[in-house]
Amino acid sequence: MTMQTIINILDQTPDELRKKFSGSGIEAYRADQVLGWIYGKGVYEFDRMTNLPMDLKKKISESFLVGMPAVTQAQRSDDDKSTKLLLKLKNDDLVEAVYMPIKDRETVCVSSQVGCKFHCAFCASGQDGFFRNLTAGEIIAQILHARDLSPAKRITNVVFMGIGEPFDNYTALLKTIRILNSPKTLGLGARRMTVSTCGIIPKIQKFAEEGIQAELSVSLHGATDRVRGLIMPVNTAFPVKPLITACKAYIKKTGRAITFEYILIKGVNAGPKDAGDLAKLLRGMVCKVNLIPMNAIPEFDHAAPTYQETVQFQQVLQTQGIKTTVRFSKGRDIQAACGQLRSVKLKGQAKKGVKVGEHRSASR
Ligand code: SAH
Repeated sequence: MTMQTIINILDQTPDELRKKFSGSGIEAYRADQVLGWIYGKGVYEFDRMTNLPMDLKKKISESFLVGMPAVTQAQRSDDDKSTKLLLKLKNDDLVEAVYMPIKDRETVCVSSQVGCKFHCAFCASGQDGFFRNLTAGEIIAQILHARDLSPAKRITNVVFMGIGEPFDNYTALLKTIRILNSPKTLGLGARRMTVSTCGIIPKIQKFAEEGIQAELSVSLHGATDRVRGLIMPVNTAFPVKPLITACKAYIKKTGRAITFEYILIKGVNAGPKDAGDLAKLLRGMVCKVNLIPMNAIPEFDHAAPTYQETVQFQQVLQTQGIKTTVRFSKGRDIQAACGQLRSVKLKGQAKKGVKVGEHRSASR
């Protein structure tokens, strides 16, 4: 007998699962029953799926599994009610997910990759490089783990703002959105999902063509190539002007607004001139700006501006008619900035921080 690979049910669309059940000699409607247990009731063990006959449970478990990775750490914030989960995947790969109940929303922030290729200076996720893409099932497992933390056992919003670059794992990203959309899973509308990108232009163009109603956030963090290039190496491949052109085309094609994420880093991108440059760049666009006072990480020797400087920055944009909110980060006390928990776990202790313009030593 040949070794058969076991199929992760969380990687399958409902249609695919029906086909695969049929292919294994299991009646297709059983696929819907299993999905009902997983997505409807939060039951992940076949043994506990009480409307399945015993011999069928055995047969299913020979070819299928529900890939729920172990939670190795769960840190609940004292500031708010957010909880950060550290999940252990196969080969001991670690990823993070954050469950954030905010007013009437229950949001989960998911990782899309193990590590990241893009090395933004202020971000903990890419400091140790890139390891691999997550599968759709590995992304969905994060959402299910977060939902299990919810008192009402529900998730209303998903944001792809954890570790990794979702547009660099495009196929799994789209599959995840499509699986979650289905009424046989969570029935989560695309409008309740936000994809955040560091600005991969060809994928912004492609995403505009998909006819998906998801929200798009673009991490801008600098309004000129000089400033953005200092902190985001991806700016060399995809500089500010063509990025904004692609964003404008996206807005035109989809009829949807874009949110620009802009981390405020004192002495780097947070002065009055920076605010003026940003206002000039975005004036007239159907967009809004999310200002995020930087979360300090040990690897990057910079801080957020003062409250007053932050408000002044916001006012420059607002007086130009640009909708601007300030997002004071949630869960600072649980190291909820991207990739921080995983990074601390990997290193055991912090490295010396570097300043913009300094060179990081080549050795890891
Ligand atoms: N790769 C995607 C998604 C992951 S980052 C992207 O770049 O958008 C999600 C958001 O968290 C981005 O806007 C990112 O710039 C921000 N972020 C990363 N490190 C941060 C820090 N130290 N403080 C505040 N926000 C941070």
